[in-house]
This record gives sequence, C-alpha cells and structure tokens, in this order.
Amino acid sequence: MSAIPAALARAVEARRDDLIALTRDLVRIPTTNPPGDAYRDCAEFLGRRLAASGFAVEYVRAIGAPGDSERYPRINVVARRALAGPGRCVHFNGHIDVVEPGRGWSVDPFAGTIRDGRIYGRGTCDMKGGLAAAIVAAESLIECAPELCGALEVSGTVDEESGGYGGVAYLAERGYFSPDRVQHVIIPEPLNVDRVCIGHRGVWWAELETLGRIAHGSMPFLGDSAIRHMGAVLERIEHELLPHLAGRRTVMPVVPEGARQSTLNINSVHGGQPEGHDGLPSPCVADSCRIVIDRRFLIEEPIEAVKAEVRELLESLVRTRPGFGYQLRDLFEVLPTMADPSGPVVQATLAAIRDVLGRDAQIVCSPGTYDQKHIDRIGRLKDCIAYGPGILDLAHQPDEYVGIEDLVASAQVMARAAHALLSAGT
Ligand SMILES: [Zn+2]
Repeated sequence: MSAIPAALARAVEARRDDLIALTRDLVRIPTTNPPGDAYRDCAEFLGRRLAASGFAVEYVRAIGAPGDSERYPRINVVARRALAGPGRCVHFNGHIDVVEPGRGWSVDPFAGTIRDGRIYGRGTCDMKGGLAAAIVAAESLIECAPELCGALEVSGTVDEESGGYGGVAYLAERGYFSPDRVQHVIIPEPLNVDRVCIGHRGVWWAELETLGRIAHGSMPFLGDSAIRHMGAVLERIEHELLPHLAGRRTVMPVVPEGARQSTLNINSVHGGQPEGHDGLPSPCVADSCRIVIDRRFLIEEPIEAVKAEVRELLESLVRTRPGFGYQLRDLFEVLPTMADPSGPVVQATLAAIRDVLGRDAQIVCSPGTYDQKHIDRIGRLKDCIAYGPGILDLAHQPDEYVGIEDLVASAQVMARAAHALLSAGT
C-alpha cells in the first residue's frame, strides 16, 4: 500500500488557501459568453500559473470559429507536464467561459465574495472552482509523486456555453484529444462532489415554420393563418408526441430523475406581423409562425428516428389539414454519449471518492450536453467523465457558489484518481 494517497490529501489541504485564491482570481476575470469577454486574460493567467508549475504551455486561438474576432479572440490554453518517464496521460479540461450573471444577485457576481464557507460568483460552480481544483490536484500530484511516469495536462477552453466549437471541438479536431496523446479525461463540471458523470443525452434543435397567406384582419377568411396551423401542430405535440416521449425510458442514469426519458421543449414561438411604432397591432392574418423545438433524446434512440417522428407528425397534418404547409430546419444536434462505467477513469474516480469522502459515489448522466461530446465524437477518446465540486442545480443561477470543503475534497479526489490512473501503467 503506497503512502502517496495520504500525502496527496495533505498536499491538497496545505494548498487550501491557494485553491480559494485561485478560484477567486478566475472569477474576477469576467469571461462572459456571449460575447466571449476577457478570454485572453483568463487563458494567459492560467498559462502563467501552469508554466510556473513546470507545464509546457500552448495558446491555441480558434481562428474562424463562431464568434472569433480581433475584439473577441477565442483563445484556449493547453498545458502539458511530462513526468518522470513515458506513460499514459491524464487530462483535466475546464471551460473558462461563464454565462452572463443576469439579475437577482445579492453579491457582486465578479468579486469572488466568501461567505459561510462558500465562494460566491458567476462561474464559481460552473466551472472555475472545478478548474482551480484540477490545477491544485495536478500540482499536488507533481510534488508528491516525483517518480510517477506519464503526463498531466490541463486545458482551459472557451465557448462551452455556446457549443464548444471554438474550444474543445477546435482542439479535438487538431489532435489534442486523440487517444495517442491523451488516455483519460476528467472535466470538472459541476455534477456534485460525490457523483461521477459518464455522459449525456442527445440534443436536436430545429426550427419549424408553418406557412399561411396574408390577408386583412377584418376578413380572415380571405387568408390562411399560419398561427392557427401552428396551433394544430402544438395540439399534436401536446396530446400525441409528449405522452409518447414520457413513456420512453433510458438505461442511462440521468439526473434529475425527470430527465430519464425523452423530452421536448418548445423554446420559443414567433408569429404574425410585428407591432407598429405606436404599439397597435398590424391587422393582418399571419403568413408565418415559427417555433424552435429542443428535443433531448436517449442513447436508445437513433437521431434519424427522432427527426422522422416529428416529420411524420407534420406530414400527417399535410394530409389531413387543408392548406397546411411547413418548413423544418435543423439548427443543432449532438448525439448522446456514455463512457463505459467499468472503464479506468470511472473506476479510479469512484475509488478516490470513496477514500476521500468515505461514502460511495453515484454514477450519473447529465440531462444536457457538455464538452464530452467533442472528446468522444471528434477525439474518439472514450475514457472521459465529468467530475467536479459544484452543485449542478446552482449552475447559471444568481448567487452561484461553490463550497470550500467541496472544492478541497474534489481536488483530493482528482489527485488520487490521476495518481491511480498513472500508476496503473500502460
Ligand atoms: Zn459548465
């Protein structure tokens, strides 16, 4: 039995103040996305920190990625620390972008205020606290296990909140997440300190437009209302599709429980002519009505079937409803992904949680997607999980916080898990 796990726990504990300070420093860099503010500042801050810890630091700007411009460059940082000899590589990936603070805060969202054992601020939970914990975990491991072989990597990536195309996807396309370079990935997203997240459901966003014919509002019988056609669609969704989806259960351990099925949300409805300057309505029959649907699907459902189901519903309206016409446009899609629960990174992290927290961890899947999708689909790297200190429900909320005890515990877990993965050899 190696003495290193105990030494690791002490080394992380000794860095408690540093971990708190690092989290607060990151929160004070307002990397709000959109538009993608202060990415360079944040990437370079991380780069300086990791260079000082012996990492070789690279900055990768996602030129041409959505949103990339001279004003808002998409700058990622990738740091690699080769250890005592050749071996496997454990990579910690955290997104540096945060969503806008929104209203309802009782503290300054970019101050990193400490209160009652918690650090408050936008990104504390999702996920600068997790990224700080991963950095402290890596640094503690380097100090405690100088004989360890392999490599540690830490990346701070952009745009996760807007799909990750300028971040993890961009890096994955350039080989940064290829299995010949990296073997195990931990993404410290806020899934709670005692849960290991092995994947997520799929997502399909589409815009549906019903078509009508404009006419004077006083003589609607001379036109054809796209809004009434959309009403018929919504009626079918409500009474046919949604009950259907609710009955479709998954083997994926999705949390919360309510998401352990197929779901569909109607994100928006827009129809008819805009109001005039004086706020009076335009007296017209609507010739267009659009909705955006947000369909979350299961690992058991092929995406072709997910789309066909909606198309069949619409085609049946074409057959039965006079004048019904529509256009369906794909906006975005991500396939479901799920790591092997018996794989090395899951098992190492479960064991580490048991050791550090003294209780069994829960294996979960996320209701929504995160950057694991790119690591899986583009990088073809399967041994990837999300594990981090934040509380899932607090993500994107006002008064978001991370608990300091959870921060420290998660850093201990990540350090132990990485140690176990690298000591297991090749
Ligand atoms: Zn996140």
